[in-house]
Amino acid sequence: MDLIIKNACELATPISSTQKPLVGKQMQQLRIIKNASLAVNDGKIVGVGKTSSVTSGFKAAETINAEGKTILPGFVDPHTHLVFAGSREKEFETRLKGASYMEILRQGGGILKTVRETRQATTDELVCNCRKTLDIMLRHGTTTVEAKSGYGLTKKDEAKCLRAIQQVNKSHPVDVAPTFLGAHAIPPEYGENSEGYVELITEEMIPSIANAKLAEFCDVFCEKGAFTVEQTKRILQAGSKHGLTPKVHADELTPYGGAELAAEMRAVSAEHLLYASEAGLRMMSKSGVTAVLLPTASFTLMTQRYADARRMIDLNLPVALGTDFNPSCWTESQQLAIALACRQLKLTPAEALTASTLNAAHAINRAAEIGSLEEGKKADALVLDAPNHSFLGYRFGTNLVSKVIKEGKLVVDVE
Ligand SMILES: [Zn+2]
Repeated sequence: MDLIIKNACELATPISSTQKPLVGKQMQQLRIIKNASLAVNDGKIVGVGKTSSVTSGFKAAETINAEGKTILPGFVDPHTHLVFAGSREKEFETRLKGASYMEILRQGGGILKTVRETRQATTDELVCNCRKTLDIMLRHGTTTVEAKSGYGLTKKDEAKCLRAIQQVNKSHPVDVAPTFLGAHAIPPEYGENSEGYVELITEEMIPSIANAKLAEFCDVFCEKGAFTVEQTKRILQAGSKHGLTPKVHADELTPYGGAELAAEMRAVSAEHLLYASEAGLRMMSKSGVTAVLLPTASFTLMTQRYADARRMIDLNLPVALGTDFNPSCWTESQQLAIALACRQLKLTPAEALTASTLNAAHAINRAAEIGSLEEGKKADALVLDAPNHSFLGYRFGTNLVSKVIKEGKLVVDVE
């Protein structure tokens, strides 16, 4: 045995017997063990239970004493715009004076400023930025992230961003699931010719990116002023044809039919959903689309609008949580997403834990390996400096993570 974490006040984890994301009341039903231990061998979980039973069955090379603390699964962040250059702190001040996201975009700021800076960056510079971000995410307990391209918006620069993701994935403890988001904004050189850019995406970018195996998922910013529902559909269909699983940025800023389209396309997830219609949510529920909610994005938009998570849970929609890490929502912390989800989406800490671990793993097709503390899964775990999981979201603005174990290795140790 490589490692035993023992004597924890509590071990808390979602469990799914159906291999499906958890819905409705299931999101609240954690497996909770008091005075618990976790045993690890060869990067995998081999024992979960009471300290007395786990330690009598196993002898380990390394032991961690988690007295007074809580063992949780590593967080999975299913929605990040990990790879970009530059920053947008000046635009933040403009937004504080009342300018909207779309006004800033129309004036060439927002995504377009980041696009200019990302195009100028080398792959090495982007890898370096990603690495810094992943270091911070890992210290805050995130052991797997999804990462989108979308600040290159040319064939060459989108591939450069995805190569940076590929390189950092190989060399950093955090696992990274790559998503092609060439349809993030219409690049300025296309002006009003959005159709010309959609054609570039479907005819050139998707085939070459899929061929080079640079992405698993294809995402589109389906929104007024970005890509229409019809364009989104064509892009996602082209992605599917080349083996890229569809995801959608849906109904974030306006009610636009994104939720309906995500259901129709059988997308693995639809993200944001602040303005999703009741009909769209019901369709998503039927098609098994996971709702990835991003309360940190709502918080940073300052519109006071949040996704209706309680309604989604009532409709048996699987709910996941992410940070939406990007230059206008610059937070690496799933703990902050959880704190906001509790207060603004009215999730309980147990539901928020399910949403940021097992359901988040489903949103990136990785639930067979990660997202819960079960025998046979990767040993991705946290030791939280708190006596039980209810401290998640309750204490906020500080990092409660004491230790992080990634595939059985201790990679963060605050003590
Ligand atoms: Zn996003």
